[in-house]
Amino acid sequence: MANVHELKFLKEKIEDLKEQGVYRKLPVLESANQAEVILNGNKVINLSSNNYLGFANHPRLKKAAIDAVEKYGAGAGAVRTIIGNMSIHEELEALLSKFKREEAAFVYQSGFNCNAGTIQAVTEAGDIIISDELNHASIIDGSRLSKANRAIYKHSDMDSLEQVLKESRDKYRNILIITDGVFSMDGDIAKLPEIVELAEKYEAMTYVDDAHGSGVLGESGRGTVDHFGLHGRVDFTIGTLSKAIGVVGGYVAGSNTMYEWLSHRARPVLFSTSLPPAAVGAIMEALTMLMESTEYTDRLWDNAKYFKTKLGTLGFNTGHSETPITPVIIGDEAKTMEFSRKLLEKGVYVSGIVFPTVPKGTGRVRCMVTAAHTKEQLDKAVEVFEQVGKEMNIL
Ligand SMILES: *Cc1c(COP(=O)(O)O)cnc(C)c1O
Repeated sequence: MANVHELKFLKEKIEDLKEQGVYRKLPVLESANQAEVILNGNKVINLSSNNYLGFANHPRLKKAAIDAVEKYGAGAGAVRTIIGNMSIHEELEALLSKFKREEAAFVYQSGFNCNAGTIQAVTEAGDIIISDELNHASIIDGSRLSKANRAIYKHSDMDSLEQVLKESRDKYRNILIITDGVFSMDGDIAKLPEIVELAEKYEAMTYVDDAHGSGVLGESGRGTVDHFGLHGRVDFTIGTLSKAIGVVGGYVAGSNTMYEWLSHRARPVLFSTSLPPAAVGAIMEALTMLMESTEYTDRLWDNAKYFKTKLGTLGFNTGHSETPITPVIIGDEAKTMEFSRKLLEKGVYVSGIVFPTVPKGTGRVRCMVTAAHTKEQLDKAVEVFEQVGKEMNIL
């Protein structure tokens, strides 16, 4: 009899990955996450992190983390509903709601958790969730945890959204429209003003996952809702504390009513220990730095425009990005991974992103420019892109 512990069915799937040319080992980072890093033993320019503002290894954040550890210890010791709700967590939420210009902000341990917990808490059987087809995996998983029905509209297609709204309005009690604020694989911005108009026309609620918009768009990185001046018209604004903010955690900003309900029903908060004090201290320092000055977001945008213009001039297909996320679309999955490997051999790390993260045939390397890159580093990266692009007949 076959031994069940061999996990033969998984071995077969792994063989398939190898045949498709998409098998890989996890890269190992041997330094802090910054513009130049030590990756798998080599010094390389890092164009792959979500550390948009260079905060992940910033001295001010590190100091704040150490101070928080000194005062509150290494761990919170319990879930928030028992005794893991420290004063530092409450201070963070107050600071976040001020930063986001909303009544309240409710903090989770990650952005993923936030979607997993919030969507199911605010919807139920008899409701419908209407989601953009390119929404992040954590929204898809979060929606699956809800007892509500689900529908998809074509990416940023307002006719498609209105069609679904029309069909749904009389059949369901509550309607929740969910969109990414900034789409993580293409870097385009949601058509939020139009979405909000449609939502109001059909009496639907709106839910924006601004993981890639917070710390990037709006005044000092206040996000996509601020960018479009839509405060008070989006019911749930999700942000992550692990991308531009540089640490870990997630939150949803909105009304006091939302906060009250989530503090009773958000399952990841009810059943999983709260953020460690070090993370909370560092996050608060990051928010303080953003509220003090636009220096970081200004530098991010300046670098992003510089890099994107150079790649575009060379003739690379950078899609329709409107943000620092700069995809270079290659198409074929195996060719995409080869392109990424060759860049790495020449000292530039840009991860290849292929199916199932993006649709088949739209493989890309996704460049993430940050405020911490120097122009010299960006120039060097562009040079390597040109060499590899010519070598592989992409240019
Ligand atoms: C990264 C991301 C998340 C997850 O955030 P974490 O804090 O890393 O868990 C959620 N939604 C979107 C759109 C993201 O890009």
